[in-house]
Amino acid sequence: MSESYVIIGDGIAGSSAAETIREAKPDADVAIITDEGEALYNRILIKEFAKGKLPEAPISIHEPEWYDERDIDLELNTFVTNIDADAHEVHTHDSGTFEYDKLLVATGGTPTQLPVDNSDADGIHHFWTFQDARAIAENAEQAETGVVVGAGLLGIDLAAICGEQDVDAHYIMRGNRWWRYGLSVDGAEIIHDALEEKGVTPVLESGVNGFKTDDDGNVVATLDADDNEYDSEFVGIAIGLNFNTEYLQGSGVETDNGVVVDQYMQTNVEDIYAAGDITRYYDVILDEYAQNGSWGSAKQQGAVAGKNMVADSDEEKEEFRWVSSYSITHFDFPFLSFGFPTMGDDECEEKYSDTEWRRLSFKDGKLIGGVLIGDIAPQGKYKDLIRNEVEVADQKDILLEKEFDPEKLALPQEQ
Ligand SMILES: Cc1cc2nc3c(=O)[nH]c(=O)nc-3n(C[C@H](O)[C@H](O)[C@H](O)COP(=O)(O)OP(=O)(O)OC[C@H]3O[C@@H](n4cnc5c(N)ncnc54)[C@H](O)[C@@H]3O)c2cc1C
Repeated sequence: MSESYVIIGDGIAGSSAAETIREAKPDADVAIITDEGEALYNRILIKEFAKGKLPEAPISIHEPEWYDERDIDLELNTFVTNIDADAHEVHTHDSGTFEYDKLLVATGGTPTQLPVDNSDADGIHHFWTFQDARAIAENAEQAETGVVVGAGLLGIDLAAICGEQDVDAHYIMRGNRWWRYGLSVDGAEIIHDALEEKGVTPVLESGVNGFKTDDDGNVVATLDADDNEYDSEFVGIAIGLNFNTEYLQGSGVETDNGVVVDQYMQTNVEDIYAAGDITRYYDVILDEYAQNGSWGSAKQQGAVAGKNMVADSDEEKEEFRWVSSYSITHFDFPFLSFGFPTMGDDECEEKYSDTEWRRLSFKDGKLIGGVLIGDIAPQGKYKDLIRNEVEVADQKDILLEKEFDPEKLALPQEQ
């Protein structure tokens, strides 16, 4: 009998794992199960579609033929309801059963709902799938007024969509600035100014008390924390992700706000691996468990999981060793977050101009991440320092020089 590999989730993590497995095992049975109605597409680009800037076609990554050509069984519109780890079986909503020798869990997350009145009204959107993007585009094209909630990397996509679709929007944030975990007031000011230029007004140190609807159930207004009312025919909410782990209940797989895996993407249960946004993985550079919601990281985790699922011995296993990055391209200037800018015990920053700012974060004297606004050219040099795990926190002046030159750093010979 041929070996059987089952992958739950056809996002970039699941799909790269399938590709890796197929290359290594031409005769194995490979199946991907997804509750979405379409094959892998570029989740990063759906915001450009929602802005009205891109047609549908370039967003698709794999047509169904891609799976056929590789003899990968793609099960669309199929929701996994539970796993029987002892029997090595996956069960689906339509009473289907998939037997596996090795299983990959790559089901990512689902946007968190705002627990206030009328938060399910028509015109209120969460943003994760291509279907969401289609609904957002349709609504934003018509709407004249809008509100965005959630001061993070996804919230700003919704704000930028409002800007591009000429929606006069208010952007409600809980703290005193956008992405307060990654930026200081100085850095955030650059973003606030850029939002204002797009017709999006930041509303700081606030929140949402509820929404008002018309007789047809469409949202018409948002009430902030002080019950100020903002007209809003469009509302976008991005306040976090809940990881899709419900179907793992009873399987014995350890979860801790995500699925816990080691550096080989292996869970505590034999023959079950996990990859992508859903993992809380052991990061070998940080030397602790971490989480990472980015495309590049999910793709690499999928590939690493695939390799380890087909490995015949421990010697063939590969570690996940990766410095991630996440860029934002909504403004006239570039923005890039890399590594773990919010996890350090020490940091430094500098503002170079009205649109140029840099922050670096350190842990135990080593660079672990940062945020670059305006000039992202030094990213490669900083990422090298992270990969090489060198202690540089005592040389912040050199690190923050506008034209950062790693040659100027005094590094111990053995580093
Ligand atoms: C609008 C938007 C913009 C983004 N922009 C960027 C960016 O600029 N840069 C960047 O690096 N990252 C960006 N990201 C994040 C990036 O897209 C994710 O980190 C990445 O796609 C995660 O891939 P994944 O395969 O782990 O999970 P996902 O892509 O979430 O795939 C998981 C799949 O599993 C399916 N699934 C869930 N539960 C079940 C179940 N029980 N049964 C069957 N199927 C199930 C889901 O429907 C989904 O299709 C963005 C994300 C969004 C939503």
